[in-house]
Amino acid sequence: KLYNQVQDLKGSIRVYCRVRPFLSPQSNYMSTVEHIEEGTITINVPSKNGKGRRSFNFNKIFEPSATQAEVFSDMQPLIRSVLDGYNVCIFAYGQTGSGKTFTMTGPKEITEKSQGVNFRALSDLFLIADQRRDTFHYDVSVQMIEIYNEQVRDLLVTDGTNRRYPFAKIRSCSNRGFSVPDASLVPVSSKFDVIDLMNLGQRNRAVGSTALNDRSSRSHSCLTVHVQGRDLTSGSILRGCMHLVDLAGSERVDKSEATGDRLKEAQHINKSLSALGDVIASLSQKNPHVPYRNSKLTQLLQDSLGGQAKTLMFVHISPETDSIGETISTLKFAERVA
Ligand code: ADP
Ligand code: MG
Repeated sequence: KLYNQVQDLKGSIRVYCRVRPFLSPQSNYMSTVEHIEEGTITINVPSKNGKGRRSFNFNKIFEPSATQAEVFSDMQPLIRSVLDGYNVCIFAYGQTGSGKTFTMTGPKEITEKSQGVNFRALSDLFLIADQRRDTFHYDVSVQMIEIYNEQVRDLLVTDGTNRRYPFAKIRSCSNRGFSVPDASLVPVSSKFDVIDLMNLGQRNRAVGSTALNDRSSRSHSCLTVHVQGRDLTSGSILRGCMHLVDLAGSERVDKSEATGDRLKEAQHINKSLSALGDVIASLSQKNPHVPYRNSKLTQLLQDSLGGQAKTLMFVHISPETDSIGETISTLKFAERVA
């Protein structure tokens, strides 16, 4: 049965949508979401002649009340397939504040219950690897990088402050599946090791930010888990990897207002998110030409998008009516890749 589940997901692209709850406790606000039914979400769109509506279809939609455990429970077959030697990409897409980091990592103060996909995926991975210990030996290692203004940085460097946060190059080592071979590759043997590394990555990432300038919303971060499994009877080796990507905020920046660095950032984000959209759309349309070369993000993930790889795009929307413009453009982006 499990084998069949894995087969079903083979080479697949799935798109899920998650609606963030209102953050204020006294919220009897109007939501932009009219209703959610199975795989359809209907949005209230203000128009000149009163109220309009628009519906979008996805593989799955999570209501504001969905828990982190519910959101993750759907992803377990993906984790299993990494240990079977497949490549997996999980993306969080949406405007800043829509809940991408909440889904991938959790809230500011993370408890067992509020842990996001990253923690749950890693603890599942070690759990399944342990269940298979009589037949397989697994080696697991992680990389964590950031892409900001089309430059790639290693987030797992520990030695000395001046060597912190160095640039890394994307190179194709397809045979081994490493697309950033110069970035630190750290062996891990439990989910606790990974939690420590994620904290280090977060601290290194914060170096580039100031209170007024939260760079994390304007860069993509990617936690990559490399798995190598050795079949204890035949000695054969299989390799899989999983990219967990918290994308930069998808909001459009007003070109008349943004200048200098802010405009440059916005242009880079725009370019890489549309490159990602183009790649996923051409894969889902089975287009023979897939334009991987158009951004660092798609180059980085090239071996894990398309082919036998499994992709999960998680789009996030905010319920507030003043976000309607971004909500519609997020849903349109997602509809195109679904
Ligand atoms: P993003 O990463 O897209 O900018 P965040 O994940 O930081 O957004 O979410 C913005 C705020 O909303 C944070 O305070 C976060 O904890 C909260 N939040 C997001 N999604 C949820 C959710 N599903 N349930 C409760 N709080 C959430
Ligand atoms: Mg975030």
